[in-house]
Amino acid sequence: MNDSSVAAPAAAALGGRAAAVAAVAARHAGEVDSTPRFPAESFAAAKAQRLLGILVPTQLGGEGASIREVADVCYRLGQACSATAMIYAMHQVKVACLVRHGRGSEAIEGLLRRLCAEQLLLASSTTEGQGGGNVRSSEAAIEHREGRVHLERKASVISYGAQADGIVTTARRAADAESSDQVLVALLKEDYTLTRLQGWNTLGMRGTCSDGYTLKAAAAAGQVLPEPYETIHARTMVPCAHLFWGSVWAGIAAGAAARAQGFVRHAARHAGGQAPPGAPQLSRALSTLRTLRGVLANSLRAYESKMDDPKALAALDFQSQITLTKVEVSELAVATVLTALRVCGLSGYRCDSEFSVERQLRDVLSSPLMINNDRILASLASTSLMAPVPVSLND
Ligand SMILES: Cc1cc2nc3c(=O)[nH]c(=O)nc-3n(C[C@H](O)[C@H](O)[C@H](O)COP(=O)(O)OP(=O)(O)OC[C@H]3O[C@@H](n4cnc5c(N)ncnc54)[C@H](O)[C@@H]3O)c2cc1C
Repeated sequence: MNDSSVAAPAAAALGGRAAAVAAVAARHAGEVDSTPRFPAESFAAAKAQRLLGILVPTQLGGEGASIREVADVCYRLGQACSATAMIYAMHQVKVACLVRHGRGSEAIEGLLRRLCAEQLLLASSTTEGQGGGNVRSSEAAIEHREGRVHLERKASVISYGAQADGIVTTARRAADAESSDQVLVALLKEDYTLTRLQGWNTLGMRGTCSDGYTLKAAAAAGQVLPEPYETIHARTMVPCAHLFWGSVWAGIAAGAAARAQGFVRHAARHAGGQAPPGAPQLSRALSTLRTLRGVLANSLRAYESKMDDPKALAALDFQSQITLTKVEVSELAVATVLTALRVCGLSGYRCDSEFSVERQLRDVLSSPLMINNDRILASLASTSLMAPVPVSLND
């Protein structure tokens, strides 16, 4: 994340490194989806390009990259392999939480130094038991015993849990705490065991390998972040999740739109210049993509301008904007891919065609469900009732 001592990596240089990883990811995306399996080649390339620690300040061994730069890596990877991109995005959300809320903590700073030096991959555990997508509620509590913290939770979904080098998890602060009185705990592989509870046989995002596990951990007390999770959630977790996930979905949509454009060009070349019947839909796909990129760009700008101002981050209008970003971006990404399918027709519908968008469609359909849009909209219902409806275009 931006720190003034050393300049952040030039966007172009970072773009080139991301493009190199995307090229590897694209080559293996089909097999990652069909097997399904963890995109090992993509992450070997990401580690070789040292992309895992870019958000960490230079003083701790990272590159001090900005939120926008990380979002762009997510977007580039999303065009190549949705699973690679989503894993990268989830990792960076956790890194952002540690960077922004673990400064000054010896244990967390030590972990971030190791993350950069060894290019460690962090997974996320928020979903628990039957609780679904309510991130602001935890069942399992940490217990302090003999100077260490202990935790056992039924983590019903942990993407790439088996492949990650560490897990950042929410937990109830203590056995007698309310379910919403949570902390965030950063664990490295040596701190926990995972016992598999369920597999991940899904329509899309198959390569995220999001199995369910019993997570049993014992760690140093300093690995519990000092700030309450409530603060981390509002200031970093939600904004970064919505911006990085949204960039992945925008990338998937851009990948599908590029295939649709390629299809129209190809079909016209083979029909003496006559465009195929679905060609007029191409403008719609590109227009939806433009709107989607606009929503993301606006929210990235808003977050970056406020990220060091706790009062501005807590303001209702910012919280509504960043919350709705997830809803809008996911719906526009689905619409873009569906329109790309209409452009490509049967060639897009086929699983074995050069212009197939079936994998993109299956993958992007996870976006409204990943913290369900209905749950998000319900949480905004009372705010929306109070929000003034603008009466002028200049308001
Ligand atoms: C690709 C992918 C990767 C994931 N990776 C991880 C991971 O690494 N770690 C992790 O912890 N989790 C992960 N998750 C899980 C995710 O964070 C959410 O927990 C999960 O998507 C919620 O699923 P759900 O539909 O079961 O639950 P819910 O959100 O509970 O939704 C269930 C149903 O209830 C409805 N509903 C719920 N609440 C309300 C409400 N208040 N108002 C109206 N309707 C409501 C919804 O519309 C939905 O139909 C992942 C999910 C996906 C799709």
